[in-house]
Amino acid sequence: MVIGSGFGGLAAAIRTQAKGYAVTLLEMRDAPGGRAYVYRDQGFTYDAGPTIITVPFVFEELAAAAGKRLSDYVKIVPCDPFYRIHFPDGRVFDYRGDTAALEAEIAKFNPADVAGYRRFHDYSRRVFDRAFTDLAAHSFDSFWEMVKVAPDLLRLRADQSVYHRVSHYIQDPALRQVFSFEPLLIGGNPLNSSAIYSMIHFLEKRWGVHFAMGGTGALVQGLVRLFGEIGGVLHCNARATEIVVENGRARGVRLADGRFFPADLVISNGDVANTYRKLVAPAHRRKWTDVRLERLRYAMSLFVVYFGTDRQYPHLPHHSIILGPRYAGLLGDIFDKKIVAEDFSLYLHAPTRTDPSLAPPGGECFYVLSPVPHLGGGQNWHDLKDAYADRILASLEKTHLVPDLRRHLVSKLIFTPQDFHDSLDAYLGSAFQFEPTLTQSAWFRPHNKSEDVEGLYFVGAGTHPGAGLPGVVSSAKVLDKWIH
Ligand SMILES: Cc1cc2nc3c(=O)[nH]c(=O)nc-3n(C[C@H](O)[C@H](O)[C@H](O)COP(=O)(O)OP(=O)(O)OC[C@H]3O[C@@H](n4cnc5c(N)ncnc54)[C@H](O)[C@@H]3O)c2cc1C
Repeated sequence: MVIGSGFGGLAAAIRTQAKGYAVTLLEMRDAPGGRAYVYRDQGFTYDAGPTIITVPFVFEELAAAAGKRLSDYVKIVPCDPFYRIHFPDGRVFDYRGDTAALEAEIAKFNPADVAGYRRFHDYSRRVFDRAFTDLAAHSFDSFWEMVKVAPDLLRLRADQSVYHRVSHYIQDPALRQVFSFEPLLIGGNPLNSSAIYSMIHFLEKRWGVHFAMGGTGALVQGLVRLFGEIGGVLHCNARATEIVVENGRARGVRLADGRFFPADLVISNGDVANTYRKLVAPAHRRKWTDVRLERLRYAMSLFVVYFGTDRQYPHLPHHSIILGPRYAGLLGDIFDKKIVAEDFSLYLHAPTRTDPSLAPPGGECFYVLSPVPHLGGGQNWHDLKDAYADRILASLEKTHLVPDLRRHLVSKLIFTPQDFHDSLDAYLGSAFQFEPTLTQSAWFRPHNKSEDVEGLYFVGAGTHPGAGLPGVVSSAKVLDKWIH
């Protein structure tokens, strides 16, 4: 039994079904995908969340675990540049996979940093070799597992932040932002996320940045089809309200409509904090009490505007990052002070650049997102959302990235931290669950095998190795240690 059909839940369902279990996948929304849900409006197809596929081989490996070939289900293509990064002074950095092209971009900003970048790249490779190759699919269920890897992590300076580590190699302030922003893609503050996440740079350089034709939703559909072909059963509109525990062991799942599904194993891909808080009665939780869960640090949330236009903007690449005037100050507002600042940094997704079929002919579809505090900041998003969305769209016009945008706007949907809370049952409306700090990573993160309930397992962003598509798909592989 798997609760939740995000990528972690789909991966766990496929792997477990492929091992010979009869798996039922329960999803409370009307369609699978979780944060990778798909919205459709007036001919525009909007991927709700993940758009950047950094390690396609985790999906290939998943399909192979079920004896299938990923390419029979979905077509995944590379993007170039990976990202176009805009600075407030008008400078632009094209973040590319090709080393010579990337170094030429670095030299435009500061020629002296090319040598430092090479050393940073080498550092990122060493972290990757240890942290991804050896540890991502490793089960941290005993403290000794952590003790064994701790010396290596300290040697790699996992105790420092990504920004600190990047600054060790690179001097130019703008380039420090270019090579340190990536933890934001998995909910981390670059000033506070462990330097192990510097490996994202190597991972992108080595495998590239990819997009699924038809959108990330096509990848979800492909995996759902694969799961069905091997005999798995998916129920949508099926909200789990209780994991029934007897004598310390999970026995099945009760749904909001009263149905009970008995099960030998329960794998939760729902929000970890809310799985414990809402689905497992306090009497069965010695470790993960409400108080302990409330004390953890939760990742930021996101404010997303999906919009479609009746004209095209061919100058835009697929992925743009538009940095605001402040870096450390803005991160402090989001993660520490938890206020919504006047300024913002944005990510702009223009998927029609790669796949025009996602918009009606002559049009283009987009989403723009702004990292914002989670609901612990106390904002009332119902009141704030329209004005905040207008400010973001106005800034896209003002910077001439999407000229005349509001005159050509024909479709608009808004998703706020409150929607993460209400639609995905995300604790505090966090977009990524727990912040990826050193003290909330590996053994310190809620374990994939519940410490409180026998037969209960976790996959997805809130458990090891963490958020982002490579992380959540790998979390299902971690279960191989216990589920044969
Ligand atoms: C806007 C946005 C952009 C992102 N961009 C990228 C990107 O480009 N690349 C990348 O790698 N990562 C990206 N991420 C991160 C990535 O999307 C997530 O980390 C990942 O998709 C989370 O997957 P998951 O397995 O944790 O499940 P989730 O997607 O969180 O899904 C969990 C599912 O469980 C269901 N559920 C919860 N409780 C219950 C219940 N009680 N009963 C039944 N069902 C339940 C929910 O409805 C949901 O469908 C992005 C995230 C967001 C929000």
